[in-house]
Amino acid sequence: MNFSIHGDADLHLHTTHSDGYFSPIQLIDKVHALGLRAVAIVDHDEISAISEAIHYGYSKGIEVLPGVELSISFNGQDVHILGYCFDFEDANLIRYLSLFREERLKRARSIVNKLAQEGLSIHFDDVMEKAGSGSVGRPHVANVLLEHGYVKSFQQAFDKYLGDGKPANIRKYSIDFETAQDLIHSAGGVCSIAHPGIQLSDRDVMTLIKLGVPCLEAVHPKHRAEKTRFYRNLAENHGLQITGGSDFHGGTKGEETLGKYTVPYQTVAELKKLTGYITQV
Ligand code: AMP
Ligand code: FE
Ligand code: FE
Ligand code: ZN
Repeated sequence: MNFSIHGDADLHLHTTHSDGYFSPIQLIDKVHALGLRAVAIVDHDEISAISEAIHYGYSKGIEVLPGVELSISFNGQDVHILGYCFDFEDANLIRYLSLFREERLKRARSIVNKLAQEGLSIHFDDVMEKAGSGSVGRPHVANVLLEHGYVKSFQQAFDKYLGDGKPANIRKYSIDFETAQDLIHSAGGVCSIAHPGIQLSDRDVMTLIKLGVPCLEAVHPKHRAEKTRFYRNLAENHGLQITGGSDFHGGTKGEETLGKYTVPYQTVAELKKLTGYITQV
């Protein structure tokens, strides 16, 4: 099979390896049906889906780029940084991510304990079952709360208990921007600021640009047309590469974003040029 030469790219997808609902194979089948040419899977603090996705993607003519969505701590906030086109067998990166995984496990236990203090009794094992072999996070807890009828919707679980500042929220172990950037750089990749419009001020974005981030996720379902335009201009004025995608998770989140938030294939070519990454199957 050769890679398709038609279609656009979605550079922000989640799988069962973090808080996505579909396995890498199910997801590739979906994007294949939608006629996309290239994708990046960017699970939260997790790169274990990549190898399988690259191989299965190839069998369908879809180019899959290595990706990750790292949680960092920036000005006291939980901020997401995307990494692309790195060596996903890099020992240093793998070591860091296994530390993240352990810390997420401890955090999930603490969240379950906090919920018990709030009178909501759920089993840690149920949360782990939702997470499967992937990195465990608040969305898995939200789904267990929903199944037990403690909340009426996935969103309500965040609004009442799990969201930032809510009673069962526990801060995630995270690294600072420089450490995240070093991690991705030393594995040969590039960083992009994920969905800046969700929580970053324009000043925060400028700080990250000054710290050397080379790409900006302008295209994202949480960005209205005006925001997207603003970030496109910002990228152009500072010589940044624009990235973008659907941030599709599937399942109870109820997003209908897949296939609707894409960037031209040229973006993939630019990311490969920036990193010297060559897709090998
Ligand atoms: P975690 O990695 O455990 O902190 O979970 C982060 C994920 O939870 C995000 O990627 C979102 O998918 C989801 N999330 C975080 N905050 C909210 C919120 N207020 N409402 C709905 N989903 C949220
Ligand atoms: Fe997520
Ligand atoms: Fe994110
Ligand atoms: Zn995401």
